[in-house]
Amino acid sequence: MPLPMKELFDIPEGMIYLDGNSLGPLVKGVSDAVKDAVEAQWGGQLIKGWNSCGWMEQPTRVGNQVASLIGAPDGSVVMGDTLSIKVFQALAAGLALRPERRVILSDNGNFPSDLYMAEGLIDLKGQGYALKVVDPEDVIAAIDDTVAVVMLTEVDYRTGRRHDMVAITNAAQAAGAVMVWDLAHSAGAVDVDLAGSGCEFAVGCTYKYLNGGPGAPAFIYVRPDLAASVTPALSGWLGHKAPFAFDQSYTPAPDIERMRVGTPSVLQLAALERAMVVWEKTSVAEVRAASIALCDLFIAEVEARCPQLTLISPRVGAERGSQVSFAFEHGYPAMQALIDRNVIGDFRAPNVMRFGFTPLFIGREDVIAAVDVLETVLKDRLWDAPHYKTKSRVT
Ligand SMILES: *Cc1c(COP(=O)(O)O)cnc(C)c1O
Repeated sequence: MPLPMKELFDIPEGMIYLDGNSLGPLVKGVSDAVKDAVEAQWGGQLIKGWNSCGWMEQPTRVGNQVASLIGAPDGSVVMGDTLSIKVFQALAAGLALRPERRVILSDNGNFPSDLYMAEGLIDLKGQGYALKVVDPEDVIAAIDDTVAVVMLTEVDYRTGRRHDMVAITNAAQAAGAVMVWDLAHSAGAVDVDLAGSGCEFAVGCTYKYLNGGPGAPAFIYVRPDLAASVTPALSGWLGHKAPFAFDQSYTPAPDIERMRVGTPSVLQLAALERAMVVWEKTSVAEVRAASIALCDLFIAEVEARCPQLTLISPRVGAERGSQVSFAFEHGYPAMQALIDRNVIGDFRAPNVMRFGFTPLFIGREDVIAAVDVLETVLKDRLWDAPHYKTKSRVT
C-alpha cells in the first residue's frame, strides 16, 4: 500500500501529528481488539484464557513480530515490562558476561532513564563498578579493556543523531566488551540489522514508532548463541524453565524466555499485537526511505521560511533517525502555540523543538501545512503570550 496509509489510523480530524516518535497514534481495530480481550477473553474465559486465548505465548509471539522489524531471527526477542527494566536486565546480563571488568560506557546523548538504570545497578552491585559517559562522537575512542559493556541508544532522542551500529559494535567487541543497543527511537523507524550487527543485547519500547499505546510493553533481544546461558538478573517465575512446577529455586528457561519476569500485560499486548498489522501492508525499508524524504523536505522548508530556528539534527538523512529538531530560545511557548493550532510536536529542555515524521500517516502535504503554521507562529510572535509560557508536567 502506498505511504502514507492514513486510513489505517484514527487521528483527530485536522491534526498534523508530528509526535509519533514519542507516542504513536491509535491504529484502527485496536479498540475492538482490546474490547475483545477484555470482554470475550477476560470476561468470558477468565482463568481459562491463559491457555484458550494464548496469553502465555503472547510475549514470544509478539516478540517474533517485533524481531522481523529489527533484523532479528524468530525466537530472539521477548516482550515484557517497561524499557527501563529491560535496560537494567540487559546491562546486568552484560556485566555478568565480563566479570573481570568494571566499566559501563555510554554517551551524553542517551536518554536519562538508561543512565539512571545504570547508576542504580552500579550502586546495587558495589565492587567498584563505574559508569563512564562521553560525547557521542568520542564513544569509539573511549572503548578500552576496562569496559565491560557499551550501552548506547542508536538514535538520540533530542537531536535524532544516529550512531553507526556496526562500527561501534565492532569496536566494542574488538576490545572485548559487550554491546547493548537501545532501539527506542529505531524500531519501526529505521532499518536495523540486529543479527548483522552481531551485538549481544538490544532493547526497545513499542509505544513510539510501533504504535502499541501508552504503557505498551518493552522488548529485549539476546543474540541466539547466548540465550541459553545469559544471567537474566530479574529471576521471576515466568523466566523459570518450568513455572508451573513451582520449584523452590530458580532455574532459567533454556532460551529467550529466561528474560521474562512476571505476568505479561495481556491487555496492552492485545493492543500492540493488533497495531502490528500495519506492517503487513508496508515495510521498514519503505518507511525509512519515505521518512528521510519527509525530514529533508521539512528541513528545507523551515530553513527557507523560519530563520529564527537553528537546525540541531544531522543534515544528512543516513545520519539521522526519523525526527528533526530545531533549537529556538522560545522553543517551549512556540511549541505550545503550534499545538494550539493542531500541529503536534514536542519540546525537550533546554530549547529543543522536536518534530517526528512517521510516513505511515504523514505525507508531504502535511509537512508543508505544518511549516505554514510554524512560519506564522514565528513571524507574528504568536508564542509571546503568557498562557504559552507555563510548563505542564509532560512537555
Ligand atoms: C522512551 C525511552 C525510554 C522510556 O523508558 P520506559 O521505561 O518505557 O518509560 C527509555 N530509554 C530510551 C532511550 C527512550 O527513548
